[in-house]
Amino acid sequence: MRTSQLLGLAGFLLASFVLSTGQMMAQAAPAKQNAFPGIGLSLDELKSQYQHTYVARRLKPNKWPNGARVAVALSFDIDNSSGTLARGTPGSEPMTRGQYGAIDGLPRILRVLDKENVPASFFIPAVAAALNPEMIPAIQSKKRHEIGIHGWIHENLVELNDQAKEQELLNKSIELITKSIGKKPVGYRAPSWAMSTYTMKQVRDAGFLYDSSLMASDDAYEIALDGKPTGVVELPIERILDDAPYFGAANGSLPAPDLVDKIYSDEFDVAYQEGGLYVLTMHPFYTGHRSRALWLEKLIAYMKTKPGVWFATHEDVARYVRIAAE
Ligand SMILES: [Zn+2]
Repeated sequence: MRTSQLLGLAGFLLASFVLSTGQMMAQAAPAKQNAFPGIGLSLDELKSQYQHTYVARRLKPNKWPNGARVAVALSFDIDNSSGTLARGTPGSEPMTRGQYGAIDGLPRILRVLDKENVPASFFIPAVAAALNPEMIPAIQSKKRHEIGIHGWIHENLVELNDQAKEQELLNKSIELITKSIGKKPVGYRAPSWAMSTYTMKQVRDAGFLYDSSLMASDDAYEIALDGKPTGVVELPIERILDDAPYFGAANGSLPAPDLVDKIYSDEFDVAYQEGGLYVLTMHPFYTGHRSRALWLEKLIAYMKTKPGVWFATHEDVARYVRIAAE
């Protein structure tokens, strides 16, 4: 990396820090009266909050299929304009940026995955799937990708905070996506990775094989809900390995995608050394742009230079770790 790039990255990170600190201060001000409700809670009460969702058991296998040294699970959240429609603020910029995901972003991503011959998992809000139904056969025609649930209209479940409404939306989402893809999806990813206190129970009761919305480990684990194993596999995500903080919040102001590639490939290198799981989250309306799809191709090509990389869907990884780690 050149010095100018390093300076560019440092400047970007500093600006992000200043911005996020400023936002935190601005948001924190009205809540001053009860800024630390945790102070008044007993250790038992804190423990029950802390372990509402937790690690029942680690699911890091000793070996991956065919002697592979690392599992790479690429994922794409096809939110498109669903979150904009949910908020009822249909400005032309967010609306058309979302449309780009269906029009150019997804087709370009599928071309990259085709060229590199690797599978991926696609999580789609039901409304996004209904508004661009052509996306489903485009993904399925490749015969190696997976489609999972990603909310009804990219609703933020923490903000919704309504158990009955949340259940209704989950049921509707499963119904619509099941009809669209011709089978019941086995994977769940909460919109914005934001689970309410009701979500995990509803996900377990719906019979999902896995969730991919939580962050307690780099590697897969079985989720515990309020102290009890759920049987649901977690394939953990992280903001570090998500294109949205770099390309979304930054509004395209990041100097160059290869700075992001540096983070992604360093994360991969350590996952490789540790024999772990590498889950990358992207969005066709961010990473589907020309310059970013280009580095995605380079990243996949780089991974392929190492021996023993297992590219798999989330479903394949979840099925494997559930058995292999037992
Ligand atoms: Zn999303």
